[in-house]
Amino acid sequence: MSAIASLFQETARLAAGFRQAAPPRHVPTHDYATSLGCFDEPLPAAGSDMLDVIRQLAKDAEPGLHATTGPRFFGWVIGGSHPVGVAADFLTSAWGQNAGNHVAAPAAAAVETVAARWLLDLLKLPTESSVGFVTGATVANFTCLAAARGEVLRQVGWDADANGLFGAPEITVLIGDDAHTTVFSALQFLGLGHDRVQRLRTDPMGRIDPVALADTLDTVSGPLIAILQAGQINTGAFDDFAAIIPLLKAKRAWVHVDSAFGLWAQASAKTSHLSRGIEAADSWATDGHKWLQTPYDCGYAIVRNELAHRRAMTIAASYLPLAGEGERDPSHYVPELSRRARGFATWAMLKHLGREGIAALIDQCCASAREVAHLLAREPGIAILNEVTLNQLVIRFGTGLPAEDGDALTRKTIERIQADGTIFAGGAKWRGRDVLRLSVTNFQTTSDEAQLAAESIITAFRSISALTRPR
Ligand SMILES: *Cc1c(COP(=O)(O)O)cnc(C)c1O
Repeated sequence: MSAIASLFQETARLAAGFRQAAPPRHVPTHDYATSLGCFDEPLPAAGSDMLDVIRQLAKDAEPGLHATTGPRFFGWVIGGSHPVGVAADFLTSAWGQNAGNHVAAPAAAAVETVAARWLLDLLKLPTESSVGFVTGATVANFTCLAAARGEVLRQVGWDADANGLFGAPEITVLIGDDAHTTVFSALQFLGLGHDRVQRLRTDPMGRIDPVALADTLDTVSGPLIAILQAGQINTGAFDDFAAIIPLLKAKRAWVHVDSAFGLWAQASAKTSHLSRGIEAADSWATDGHKWLQTPYDCGYAIVRNELAHRRAMTIAASYLPLAGEGERDPSHYVPELSRRARGFATWAMLKHLGREGIAALIDQCCASAREVAHLLAREPGIAILNEVTLNQLVIRFGTGLPAEDGDALTRKTIERIQADGTIFAGGAKWRGRDVLRLSVTNFQTTSDEAQLAAESIITAFRSISALTRPR
């Protein structure tokens, strides 16, 4: 067998071994410092054998890996890296394509054309929209807002792409108080400032208050960008697009929606009412590596006005071929020139699951979230603080206790849950109080897994409350 074949076969064996070993614990045995100890050595002067390098990598890395690909990982919002997406990604790496343009990588550009069309169809967005394949929702927000910035200024006669923001007319940026932190980062990168925004009051679930919006709109004029949200990071709540977007459109605003995971509600008949009216926006940022289960990294910047998208992102040079009619240059829709061919894994996931499989995946995650919520809510002392309409849960322990005691009990329960390791989930602050957050975003989280998760949370809570109960 050739050296390449044995290297790749051994790599595939290691990968399969990792995925097939049912993790008894959902937390890594190595923390950062221990992992660093495994890798920390001076730059080697001499090289090492290919197989040895890969075997050592697997041996030293695996104890420091979270079971994010497992069925009971509920931390942050992290998709499961579906095996089919991973396999397509293996090939993507082996092929070594540079997805910058259609001449350097014809198949990568072509697959993006088709995957983009499928995504718009699945997510029920305007068919004329363009799609950039980016690293994730952070860069998708950046890309969409760059298009927004250029277009709202172009409408008042200012070319921001050529002249920047020096001396430009002011742009008003409206954003909900409970927007994701990465949207503020995107505004920062774009020279719009993360603090120079008008924040809009939100309701207890984190939705923009339409009255607060209407009041603010009475006071603003000129170039306007409004940033809405589908899927609040804690509660999973959606802004009321059907009510809000028409108000914004009456003011000629560019409406952007951060919908990293929430946009996928569009893909199921059971959840699409949550995102009703979202298609009237101008741009949408979403992830493949969350609900579509592609491996990391993969996100999509979707812009209704293709020309605005291209104006903001096109990279031109004499040595770069120009796409002709009907040809796609992937770099025209993203900040990078050279990059990974993310279209392959996206195409593979859409082809493997199909419209029905994706709807079933969304439904299963939401049903499992509801099941955990239902089981936990029966336990005295545990409260679910959000309306579980999607896949997110906000959980509070020690209801009935003074707030500080409830915070302490919640933090201790989270520690116990993590030490036990049957599931992984982490804490957050919601409305000033400590909470446990669960995000059900994995294709393997069935009803059985949801029951195991609820049991392990209740067991941890009971053991902590027994310890802390006053005698
Ligand atoms: C995850 C997330 C982001 C950031 O996405 P990345 O893929 O981590 O870049 C932005 N907004 C929301 C609502 C998210 O859930």
